[in-house]
Amino acid sequence: MDRVDISVLVPILNEEESLRELNERLHKTLETLGKTYEIIYINDGSTDGTQQMLEEFHGRDNHVRAVEFNRNYGQHMALFAGMERSRGDTVITIDADLQNPPEEIPKLMAKIDEGYEVVGTYRKERKDSIFRTLPSYIVNKITARLVGVKLRDWGCMLRAYSRDIVDSMNMCGESASFIPALAATFARRVTEIEVRHEERKKGVTKYSLFRLLHLNFDLMTGFSLLPIQVIGMLGVMIALVGLAFALFLIIRRLVVGPEVEGVFTLFAINFVFMGAMIFALGVIGEYIGRIYQQVRGRPRFIVKKELS
Ligand code: UDP
Ligand code: MG
Repeated sequence: MDRVDISVLVPILNEEESLRELNERLHKTLETLGKTYEIIYINDGSTDGTQQMLEEFHGRDNHVRAVEFNRNYGQHMALFAGMERSRGDTVITIDADLQNPPEEIPKLMAKIDEGYEVVGTYRKERKDSIFRTLPSYIVNKITARLVGVKLRDWGCMLRAYSRDIVDSMNMCGESASFIPALAATFARRVTEIEVRHEERKKGVTKYSLFRLLHLNFDLMTGFSLLPIQVIGMLGVMIALVGLAFALFLIIRRLVVGPEVEGVFTLFAINFVFMGAMIFALGVIGEYIGRIYQQVRGRPRFIVKKELS
C-alpha cells in the first residue's frame, strides 16, 4: 500500500447536485497544499445519479477512489469503511453537501502539523433551522459530559484525525458508534477550530428528528453506562420514598384511624411509579438491543463495488 499525506473521506447519500462542485473545490484546495492525497467517496446506498458520477471522477483522476455500499448504513458506517481503506497520514472527513467549505481544510492541516491528533471544528453562525440546532445543542452538552472532553460542536463532521487515531478506531468494529466521540477516547491532544458554515443549497438534510434521536442513543449507550446507572439510582430512591409513605400510612392508621379519601392520591402515586418503571425498562432495552446487534456479529456494512 502506497502511503499518501492526506486522505479525504466523503460519505454520500443522494447528493448528485453538490458532487461536481465539491469534487472540483476539493481538488483545488488539496493541490494548493502541495501534498500527496487521495479522495475516497463512500456511496452510502444512494438511489440518484451519485454512483455514475463517482465512476466518472474515478475514471478521469487517479486521486479519486470510491466505495459503494449495497444499501444505506448511515454516515458513520460510511466513514468507517473509508477509514479502513484510507492510506493517508492524516484523515479528513467532510460532508458532501458543501455546508462545510472544503477551503477550510488547510486550517485543519495547520493544527495537525502543530501536533494535534484530532482537530474538530465548530460552526461559526450555524445555518440550520431550530429543529436541527436545538437537538444538536442538547447532544453537545451530553457528549461533552459523557466523553469528558469539552468540545463545543460534536456534530460538525469536518474533522481531521492522525493516522494513530484512525488505526485505533479501525480496531473497534462497533456496529453503532459516533466517530468524533470514539476518536476523543483515544486521543491525548484534541483541539477545535472555527470554520465557516453554509446553508444547504442543494438537496435536503438526511437527518430527521428520529434519526437524530437514534444517533443520540448510540452516543449515550456507546460511551457510558450513565443512563442505566441513573435509572438504577432513581429506582432505589423511588422505592425508599414508597416505603416511607407506607410507614406513614400505617402509623396514621394506628393514630387517626382508617382513611378512604386518600385512595385516589394512591392511584396518582402509583402511576408515577409505573411510569418510572416503564421508562427504566426502555433504557435497559436500548442497551440490550445494542448488545444483541453486536453479538450477532453481522457485517457492519457490505461493499458492493470498489474503485481504487
Ligand atoms: N449521509 C450519509 N448517509 C446517511 C446520512 C447522511 O452518507 O445515512 C451523508 C450526507 O450525504 C452528507 C453527510 O452525511 O454528506 C451529512 O448529512 P446531512 O448534510 O444530511 O446532515 P446535516 O448537515 O443536516 O447534519
Ligand atoms: Mg449538511
